[in-house]
Amino acid sequence: MKIDIIGAGIGGLTTAIALNQKGIRTTIYEQTEKLKPVGAGIILANNAMQVYEKLGLSKTIEDNGNYISDMNITTSNLNILSQVNLSYYEKKYKTRNIAIHRAILQKILINALKPSTIKLGHRLQKIKSNQGKYQLYFKDKELVQSSLLIAADGINSIVRQNLFPQNTIRKTKQICWRGITNFTLPSKHQHELNEAWGKGDRFGFVQLENDKVYWYALKSFDTNENKLSITDIEKHFENYSLLIKNIIRSTQKERIYTATISDLKPSYSWYKNNVCLIGDAAHGMTPNMGQGACQAIEDAYVLSICLKKYDANKAFQIYQSTRLPKAHKIVNTSWTIGKVAHLQNPIAIRLRNRLMQIVPSSLNRKRFDQIFKIQSI
Ligand SMILES: Cc1cc2nc3c(=O)[nH]c(=O)nc-3n(C[C@H](O)[C@H](O)[C@H](O)COP(=O)(O)OP(=O)(O)OC[C@H]3O[C@@H](n4cnc5c(N)ncnc54)[C@H](O)[C@@H]3O)c2cc1C
Repeated sequence: MKIDIIGAGIGGLTTAIALNQKGIRTTIYEQTEKLKPVGAGIILANNAMQVYEKLGLSKTIEDNGNYISDMNITTSNLNILSQVNLSYYEKKYKTRNIAIHRAILQKILINALKPSTIKLGHRLQKIKSNQGKYQLYFKDKELVQSSLLIAADGINSIVRQNLFPQNTIRKTKQICWRGITNFTLPSKHQHELNEAWGKGDRFGFVQLENDKVYWYALKSFDTNENKLSITDIEKHFENYSLLIKNIIRSTQKERIYTATISDLKPSYSWYKNNVCLIGDAAHGMTPNMGQGACQAIEDAYVLSICLKKYDANKAFQIYQSTRLPKAHKIVNTSWTIGKVAHLQNPIAIRLRNRLMQIVPSSLNRKRFDQIFKIQSI
């Protein structure tokens, strides 16, 4: 069996690794000439790390990242509203939550593949189906015929737009900045992920390596995100704690990446004749639960098992029925969290903060248990 994959993001690379380990050959077609990840970090939660453990990559990832033992939501002054201690899950699943530089993760994944697997400079422009086979039209490249295709080409997937057009991208009207800076957090924060919630904005930060902090910041806008310029970023967060202001100040402005946040309204059709969507192409989500890549990694794992056990279309069907409920639940919860985190009315904010402080830890534990439990066939 030979499978073509569109997109060498975390989803496409992990799928190729998982399939190759099962003896299934893959070719990845990636639009960029040179793989350049955003200069940002990523948190690989316990569920993703369980998959990487199975793929034999968890040790390398752990060695190159920083473990997180607590996830806190705080006020803008870093007073804790909700705290999840991760040691219970570490013991239960024997893996940790890891914060890592995206560039390093990408290198680890690429090194796990034969160099000939990835064909760079292949931007898919159009795809046509012909009796269960697909003609892939790449920009300035020869036509490729594919008999089995996985689309891992992200939230704006060309494969999805061509073959599954009934989809809606939802815009959150939130802008996101991400940066990495040379900074060492006070020791009590070194193994924590902290996300501070303010009024219509929030700021998250985590130590990546000894002297590197990854941070992200989000802010709501009404109509025009261009009014929220990077040059004013310190002003946007002037009511936040001194530590947060110092992290922002220490970052070179030209190394801050800006994006607006959107997701894919849950769609119930992830496959058809010999073609299947994974990762953000299937269930693009807002980053509010830090689960987008983790869900793509779970997709890769489940799909590889299905393709080893069944013929392609049965495999896609079982993959979808296994993965869709969990992925959609996270898409929807993440969307709601984004709204709650960005409340602007002071009374609503006070009420929200009070409620968060009284949520019993057993409820949080149940919620995280559902996220961290990986599915199998
Ligand atoms: C601010 C922010 C923070 C986040 N933090 C986290 C986090 O901490 N943890 C987490 O799990 N997730 C996080 N996510 C989500 C995560 O980044 C995505 O869910 C994940 O990268 C999706 O992986 P993917 O491989 O499906 O798609 P992508 O990463 O989008 O990769 C798609 C690939 O396909 C290629 N491609 C696209 N179109 C074409 C084409 N036409 N032809 C050929 N190639 C093409 C692209 O170049 C790219 O390489 C975050 C997202 C954001 C925005």
